[in-house]
Amino acid sequence: MIIAKTKYELNEALGQISLSPGKLALVPTMGNLHQGHLSLVKLAKLNSSKTITTIFVNPLQFGKNDDFDNYPRTIEQDIKKLNDENCDILFLPKSRNEMFPDETEIQLIKSGSLGKELCGKLRPDHFDGVLTVVHRMFNIIKPDIAVFGAKDYQQQILIRNMSKSYFPNLNILTAPIVRSNNGLALSSRNNYLSNEELDLASNLFKCLKKSVDLYQLGESIEVIIKTAKEFLISINLVPDYYEIRDELLSPIFNSDQVGKKVILGSLKIGNTRIIDNIEFNS
Ligand code: AMP
Repeated sequence: MIIAKTKYELNEALGQISLSPGKLALVPTMGNLHQGHLSLVKLAKLNSSKTITTIFVNPLQFGKNDDFDNYPRTIEQDIKKLNDENCDILFLPKSRNEMFPDETEIQLIKSGSLGKELCGKLRPDHFDGVLTVVHRMFNIIKPDIAVFGAKDYQQQILIRNMSKSYFPNLNILTAPIVRSNNGLALSSRNNYLSNEELDLASNLFKCLKKSVDLYQLGESIEVIIKTAKEFLISINLVPDYYEIRDELLSPIFNSDQVGKKVILGSLKIGNTRIIDNIEFNS
């Protein structure tokens, strides 16, 4: 695997692989790689001839009180895991300057009204920061394919929307959520939790599954949401949001609406935010 730490090295690496024909797939990450991230690399490899993974803890998507400084950074282990997956290039910008050489020329990408809902309500400007850096990655790497995880459902919808406007030929793939045995979605932030807290956190997924069952039984949306919130609160998990939406994240108001849907929930255990979702058809 070629490791590029500067934009110059990145261009050299991209130049080298452009000599062989085929599609280039990009997997953007913030590192501390786990099986969820690696499933994206696997999907990228299945759909392309060359894969580039990026590891960049993007300061633009962290708020004032977020965990930017403490975000887990495990570069040596990450490199080993990517090598084992036969990733072709790792772009590991050594400073913010490699991503944004001229700070005054950062093209800010706005996430619009959807970026202010759900997670965006809890983290103002978060999705603008995500879209700005992903847009920049797309511009400098020019992939044919980019892979994101369904774990961050709202993020991948916003990236799809952005990509349609700016990169109409780019093919966005979404990989399913990888979970641990107790159902908890893998996340780098799970590192902040104790074993008891990890067990407690797994109730969010149990609750999402129960909500799908109730939906299939014809229960009203109001009752489904109320039942879920009451269950979570009864075990001392207070949801920041818990909502049923259609697949593009428009609100739905009654449970006889047919088509693909998603239930999304977010809560905090101590200072650690847990998000999860479940997609279903009805
Ligand atoms: P992050 O490093 O947290 O920014 O995540 C990088 C990419 O990995 C994003 O597209 C995430 O949605 C995806 N991802 C993170 N956790 C999981 C998981 N448990 N299953 C599938 N994809 C994931």
